[in-house]
Amino acid sequence: MSRSPRSLRLLTRLLVVPVLAGGALVPAVDAAAQPALTTLTGTVLQVHGAPPPPGSHEPEDVRAAVQVGDRVLELDGVDAESLPSGAPVQVRGRVEGASLDVGVTGGTLRQLGAAPVKATATGVRSLLAINVSWPGGTLHETPALEDAFLFGPDDRSVQSWYADVSAGRLSWTGAETPQLSVTDPGTCDLYALSDRAQAAAVAAGYDPSAYSAIIINAPALHCPSAGYGEVGGRRTWVQDGLWDLSSGYGRLVATHEIAHALGLFHSHGLECGSLTDSAECEAASATTSNEEYGNAWDAMGNNWPGDVSDAVAEFSAPQLLALGWLPSDAVRDVTASGQYALAPLEQSDATGARVLVLSSGARRYYVEYRQPIGQDAFMAGFPASVSGVHIAVRDTGSTDTAAFALDTTPHANQPGDYTDFYDAPLQPGSTFTDPAGDVSITALGSGRVQVQVGGSAPDLVVDAVTTSPTTVLAGSAVHLSATLRNAGTAALPAGQSLRVAFLLAGSPVAWYDGVPGPLAPGASTTVTATAGPGGGTWTPTAAGTYGLKAVADDDGRVTESDESDNALRVRVSVVAPLPDLSVSAVSWTPSVPQPGSTVRFTATVRNTGDAATVAGAPLHVQFLVNGSPVGAYAGPTPSIAPGGSATLSATGTWSVPKAGDFRVKATVNDDRAVREVSTDDDTLRVTLTVPRG
Ligand SMILES: [Zn+2]
Repeated sequence: MSRSPRSLRLLTRLLVVPVLAGGALVPAVDAAAQPALTTLTGTVLQVHGAPPPPGSHEPEDVRAAVQVGDRVLELDGVDAESLPSGAPVQVRGRVEGASLDVGVTGGTLRQLGAAPVKATATGVRSLLAINVSWPGGTLHETPALEDAFLFGPDDRSVQSWYADVSAGRLSWTGAETPQLSVTDPGTCDLYALSDRAQAAAVAAGYDPSAYSAIIINAPALHCPSAGYGEVGGRRTWVQDGLWDLSSGYGRLVATHEIAHALGLFHSHGLECGSLTDSAECEAASATTSNEEYGNAWDAMGNNWPGDVSDAVAEFSAPQLLALGWLPSDAVRDVTASGQYALAPLEQSDATGARVLVLSSGARRYYVEYRQPIGQDAFMAGFPASVSGVHIAVRDTGSTDTAAFALDTTPHANQPGDYTDFYDAPLQPGSTFTDPAGDVSITALGSGRVQVQVGGSAPDLVVDAVTTSPTTVLAGSAVHLSATLRNAGTAALPAGQSLRVAFLLAGSPVAWYDGVPGPLAPGASTTVTATAGPGGGTWTPTAAGTYGLKAVADDDGRVTESDESDNALRVRVSVVAPLPDLSVSAVSWTPSVPQPGSTVRFTATVRNTGDAATVAGAPLHVQFLVNGSPVGAYAGPTPSIAPGGSATLSATGTWSVPKAGDFRVKATVNDDRAVREVSTDDDTLRVTLTVPRG
């Protein structure tokens, strides 16, 4: 069967028209002695070939069939890759054996709906191996070899592989027929072979329909590939391929084909020549830039590194996602820039993310970290595959559910040369940016990545540092705040946590750790430290000037457009605590003096400072009337506590000369004997009125 996808795609489109217009739905006989055309309504099955063995550059082989009830016919004359597996179709063509040729005059194909296959694969599934032979064609298989190969306890068996990779979610049981004699189709006619094999199995007492899937093992398929599988169907084919546990490629083919039956497509590679990715390359991913089996680290890819190690690589993350084999907490949809840590994809008991999913329009980028664990143990021999992270891209609009591996060290467009993808993973220190500039991924090593999403980025700067209280006293705790501004072009996302550290001589004394956003470009917010060695406050021990540095995002959680402008240095003056004296009231006796009275003044002295006055130390209060001294207090005082006051009376007196108003001025600490915060408030002026007799 020859294929020419591009011209057939055109043919398919043209052929749809008569059906839509005429609606001829029944078998019809064409004129001029043509055999009858048959119209069938059924479901598309894509039939995918196995990847070629190492060193072989055989092209990909993707076929299509239509299932009508229990009957399946291979479709000739169609663009198989354009027909989504699982979609309902109406086809009209000529039946030839186990095929329906749509490419004949009057042939039509009409897709009736979109129904991409959804892979489902949990629980116990059953597999019947139907072994057939014919004169001149026999198999290596014995029931014991085949049972060990498919279902045995050996780590290399197909069942062991699935149990391992699915973390126990899927297991295979089943049976094998003896070698059943059938007629050799002689050509690549998978459905003729399938029909004969199933008929022989039924005759031998087996019920193929009772199994989840069948695998037809024949001496030869006469096809380009060593195995085939229906995507989302139940038929698979291998070529004398179920006996040699020591052959990595042999195990790959069987493992790969029954994965098609689970609904999986191939794990592709995006071949963009000297580029990792480009918009043009992605647009052509269905055709010229598709390396059909390009993911070298996936049983649905070419598995060449596994083949040469007699190993079968595990599924990459997109396939595990399609199968539902990753718990939700292992999948992280990344919507905020920042640093993320990945656990190894193979580590099924890991907590935290094992795959990051980043979106750019309809495209999804999948980031995974692989380690030589379980079936991937062979990857230890390929250091680049385990030192970096693997990135694949998928267009969610595509009916092909598989993703395209990205080669982050592209060399050249070498069709069929999968070794170009051995070095596909992104190595530590390297960055991948998607063609739209929406997604940027930098590998940091050990499964850690720095991710930037949204195309532009926030940029955090500190505009000011403030203390509370404003005056910083030696020995007293002070709260530290920073005015944080987003100087970038993208918002700091809601939910993005970050730290702002306050450092003295390089050591943090306190820090803020919280979610300050969202913070739009240009917006500011003030954050206050709540944690640190002093419980979130800073207590300077001595007076002096301190260099304090505030650093936004000091532990690098936020991906910023500029990481170099995050710090602000300020000088903080720390003062020793002092009393602060003031006169809050002046009184006198007698309270209503007459001309000739002898008056004694008293001042109420308050301490509004932060330190007590020293008990017994000299404290002077001077009283003036109309500018002339009229006595003073000069005795030793008790200590006046902060907030406290003392009532101090003059030792001298004033003799009232006459009636009238007198200006009374009381000044505490007029001799500056007490060191205090401020002498500005040391004086109180009042008026004393002597009434006329
Ligand atoms: Zn395949």
